[in-house]
Amino acid sequence: MGESQGCHYISGDWLSDAPNGMVAVENPSDGSVIAEVPAGSKSLAEQAVMAAHDSFECSSWAHEPRLRSAALLEFADVLEERADSIAEMMAQENGKVLGQARHEVAAGYGEARYYAGVARNVFGRTFESGVGKLSLMTREAAGVVSVIVPWNAPVTLLVRSVAPALAAGCTVIVKPAPQAPLTNAAVMACFDAVESIPKGVINSVNEYGIEVGTILSSHPKIDVISFTGSVRTGRVILANAAHTIKHVSLELGGKAPAIVFDSADLEKAAAEIKRGSLALNGQMCTCVSRVLVHDGVYEEMKARLRNLYESARVGDARAPGTEVGPIIDKPNQERLLRIIDRAGEEAKLVVRGTAGGNDLSQGFFVTPTMFEIEEVTHDLVQDELFGPIVSLERFATEEEAVQKSNATKFGLAASVYTNDLNVSMRMGRKLKFGTVWLNCHNRLLAEVETGGYRESGIGRLHGIEAMNDFLETKHIYYEVNG
Ligand code: NAD
Repeated sequence: MGESQGCHYISGDWLSDAPNGMVAVENPSDGSVIAEVPAGSKSLAEQAVMAAHDSFECSSWAHEPRLRSAALLEFADVLEERADSIAEMMAQENGKVLGQARHEVAAGYGEARYYAGVARNVFGRTFESGVGKLSLMTREAAGVVSVIVPWNAPVTLLVRSVAPALAAGCTVIVKPAPQAPLTNAAVMACFDAVESIPKGVINSVNEYGIEVGTILSSHPKIDVISFTGSVRTGRVILANAAHTIKHVSLELGGKAPAIVFDSADLEKAAAEIKRGSLALNGQMCTCVSRVLVHDGVYEEMKARLRNLYESARVGDARAPGTEVGPIIDKPNQERLLRIIDRAGEEAKLVVRGTAGGNDLSQGFFVTPTMFEIEEVTHDLVQDELFGPIVSLERFATEEEAVQKSNATKFGLAASVYTNDLNVSMRMGRKLKFGTVWLNCHNRLLAEVETGGYRESGIGRLHGIEAMNDFLETKHIYYEVNG
């Protein structure tokens, strides 16, 4: 069995051990089984932790920034060479529309190149507190890192944690999501192709329950956890990590509002909101899920969005012209269809989503949905729905827009639409979100930090601050004799 079949990767070896059996991977566009992959176990997870630990302690990896930089550049080149086949695999495995999947892989190798530069720019400081009294502040690799990721962006979410961890000199164990083991293994194969990376620096163990994830969030030899996923799992990880006081970075859920003022370019705003809400069919943490519109342009915006949502081309993720692919699996398709029924009863549907026509019946589709609602405390407004479903809400004043936007437990991302620079700047400061985009949505850059306020998380990834999760600052003090 080769890496393309989604094996575990430990100490430079591909392992097909399946102590918990084989698991089928389905293509959500048509329900077909595309592969069977081995499920991991507690003992495989422990083996991976020890491989990463031994590699951290025994290799020179943590002390060779130029080696790490060169390795990340080489990894990026291999990922770029294999971009088309990895994007194709992702489209089949998680239903991401091919164009978006290609964009994601490009973001992955861009991110690796950024951290290759950062690897050679980690400096400490010195301080002289008196004559002959010297303090040396060094920045050192924090140790062994577990990277636990979800299925929705299996290349970028992996690389945005792994690349800064490797740049810092840490060693890593990855736990991919059960829905995306094939794409994960394809990225691991790109690391495997880089001969200068010592064995055990990067490892990966598949998971189909919580055995592996529990080890990777509680094992005493793990120093740092970089977790991306739901708030619910984030809480479990934080509790598991508490016993051995690990450093924990959490990138969790979102409920992004798009706030449209009467001074906005409505055509552009509607186009951005459509794209921002339907990326990966709404299954992205930063997707627009609430649209708040000023009274003065409410009806016009509603009509524009209705047209855009009703005409969105839903279909197989790999078919040319598809704008919106499937939902990740049948249980989530059924969950979203139930939410749409509820929205029909408890709010007012403007566009009613369905499972699609007969030609889509083999796959797990849900078409775009928009409902009007006034009650900001309603759980349709408060909860992350994670699908192509947006609420449409009104506001009369800037204060009301701020208050309603900030009224959920999430604080990951928001966007504001206005041609008035003063409104933009005031909103940018008053919104309690880790990212605020002005007149656009979902612009994520390797160089710029992302992360959440409130229950959307702890810490930042991307940018220079991502390194903070993977570095310790040490004080070495020296007094000169004589
Ligand atoms: P999830 O929390 O169910 O799973 C995420 C990962 O955690 C998976 O690998 C899963 O196997 C693992 N996991 C589950 N239970 C575990 C446990 N008890 N111990 C250890 N690991 C465990 O999330 P999901 O459904 O795969 O992904 C969707 C969620 O991720 C949404 O809430 C979305 O907003 C969030 N997300 C956030 C970001 C961000 O940058 N903030 C990015 C993408 C997705």
